[in-house]
Amino acid sequence: MRKQIAAGNWKMNLTFEEGKSLLAALKSANRPSDVKTILGVPGPYLKTFQDSCDDDSLCVAAQNIHHELKGAYTGETSVSMVKSIGVRYVIIGHSERREYQKESNALLKTKVDIALEHDLSPIFCCGESLEIRKSGSQNAFVSNQLKESLFHLSAEDLSKLVIAYEPIWAIGTGETASPGQAQEMHHALRSFIGETYGQEVADGISILYGGSVKPANAKEIFSQADVDGGLVGGASLKAEDFKQIIHSF
Ligand code: PEP
Repeated sequence: MRKQIAAGNWKMNLTFEEGKSLLAALKSANRPSDVKTILGVPGPYLKTFQDSCDDDSLCVAAQNIHHELKGAYTGETSVSMVKSIGVRYVIIGHSERREYQKESNALLKTKVDIALEHDLSPIFCCGESLEIRKSGSQNAFVSNQLKESLFHLSAEDLSKLVIAYEPIWAIGTGETASPGQAQEMHHALRSFIGETYGQEVADGISILYGGSVKPANAKEIFSQADVDGGLVGGASLKAEDFKQIIHSF
């Protein structure tokens, strides 16, 4: 059975104290045991927060790593730094990094590789712009993102990934893909993975939906056959909202 995951992406939000309060609220909440909660917290909080999580049902993820192992890259964080503090997940390829840091499919491939070499599981983000959605070529575009960054991997390595489909036009906009649109893309991606790696591998990979997930829409989106949870930005910053989302499976 695929893992059900409620992942939060705090981005560059919340002070340490605010983050601690939010984490405490989530820790003390009665969370379903079959849903894994992963919090993409700011780098400076990773160790403290990871140490205070049980790691099994609740853990943290780095929001990024550098593609080189070490060296003269002022301000960057390496995979071994993240690994050395016990963190096991890293968000790779978020659309904000693709846009603002110009991260290409080829660069993301190197980040995926270095993460896997160090036993970190990537939460690999993909998704199309509004322009591409309007042109009707979204399935080909997103499939190509997977192909160029992931399809060199062995089946064993690919199975360590979580994929997050996040249509750019739905991120932080309040506009959500309809449950049908989410299901259609998730099914297309799973089939695409299945064509290369076989259906068993494809069926084992959790594919999350991201893009204005909130308590009011989470249940319907998560109930789609190929949607295994969500990557949540804005609503993951509010304890009550995120708790409701965790209970939406
Ligand atoms: C995100 O940043 O990954 C995201 C999905 O944000 P939001 O939920 O705010 O749209």
